[in-house]
Amino acid sequence: MADQSAYSDSAVMPTYGRANLSFVRGQGSWLYTADDKAYLDCATGIAVNIFGHNDPRLTAALHQQADKLWHTSNLYRIPEQERLATRLAGHAKLEHVFFCNSGAEANEAAVKMARRFKNRTSGEGCYKILCAGGSFHGRTLAMLAATDKPLFRDGFGPMPLGFEHVPFGNLNSLRDALSDDVAAIMVEPVQGEGGANAAPDGYMQGIRAAADEYGCLLIADEVQSGMGRTGHLFAYQAADIQPDLVVLAKGLGGGFPVGAVIARRDIGEAMGPGSHGSTFGGNPLAMAVANAVLDGLEEDGFLVAVRERIASLDGYLTQLQHAWPEKIIELRGAGLLRGLRLGDDIAVGEATRALRDRHLLCVPAADNVLRLLPPLTINEDDLAIAQSALEHFFSEVAAT
Ligand SMILES: *Cc1c(COP(=O)(O)O)cnc(C)c1O
Repeated sequence: MADQSAYSDSAVMPTYGRANLSFVRGQGSWLYTADDKAYLDCATGIAVNIFGHNDPRLTAALHQQADKLWHTSNLYRIPEQERLATRLAGHAKLEHVFFCNSGAEANEAAVKMARRFKNRTSGEGCYKILCAGGSFHGRTLAMLAATDKPLFRDGFGPMPLGFEHVPFGNLNSLRDALSDDVAAIMVEPVQGEGGANAAPDGYMQGIRAAADEYGCLLIADEVQSGMGRTGHLFAYQAADIQPDLVVLAKGLGGGFPVGAVIARRDIGEAMGPGSHGSTFGGNPLAMAVANAVLDGLEEDGFLVAVRERIASLDGYLTQLQHAWPEKIIELRGAGLLRGLRLGDDIAVGEATRALRDRHLLCVPAADNVLRLLPPLTINEDDLAIAQSALEHFFSEVAAT
């Protein structure tokens, strides 16, 4: 089955390299085609369906809200939005939350907030945002400038000014690039698209210290790594640091589109009525679902169980790598955001296709990395099925 960027019978713009495959329903960790073929979902719509598919709690929350009220806009108070804001802010030890609809939009808002805050506290010209090599922050123009992937910018220039990149994981380079005109350092605690790269030990703490020293803000882009994926609600919590802005999307709605920026009180206060907005942001449907998602993550023992699944997956992946060290050059990532860096003789696109043919859904990432993003609720049996599909795949490529 060949990937194609366009299908001649489709009026959908050919911006994606889509598989010629579609699903009509999902249950738990599995997706089903119209002819009822089952696929194990270790892609989760790119780290979105954290409770798998058709979770009864999320479905009930959406139905209940759909029967009451869909949308009123932010001209009026939205009680479910205020409730979610209080809860998210509490978890992040911050005070203000802005809601939008996607990760790119949320990152874009976080950059606006950082710039506004520095503008008000340090004056004009302190607008620079330091980003990391291999970063991915979204596809709006400003987030293309923040993303370290020149190919994504091809033909879309000029790019917004004020974004600079330093090698991910290297504190010396970061410190060399810091100056008074930096508004914020923006970083993914575990890079997703960039190849499932976990921040090395001490890196997040070092960024925090450098940001404090230079008086700039720390934006944690937790769009992919957040919402329990690493066994912590937010991945930065493993490093025991405090960001000034935390950006969420993907898993926040468990499949319902929603994004959020959590900010320190004084950063929120530097924004004010009219400074930013979104027609749909934080609408009652999204808020009902996201509150239900948070209920699930807050359930007693839930994250503990996620950490057990993480340990199982880690065990499986370590075994695989021991068996095929030439095919799996490196294990990367953290938690349930894991990557297998493949040997140069296996193209990750081919591997993704071959695994899909074995009914295991994975996602390619940069650096020839095969990325696994299972639901946080994946059970032991399904993890073993994923391992077996990977084993068959690697034994087959080892034989050729
Ligand atoms: C996916 C992703 C984004 C962009 O989110 P969209 O909802 O696609 O706009 C931003 N940052 C990170 C880390 C991501 O993984």
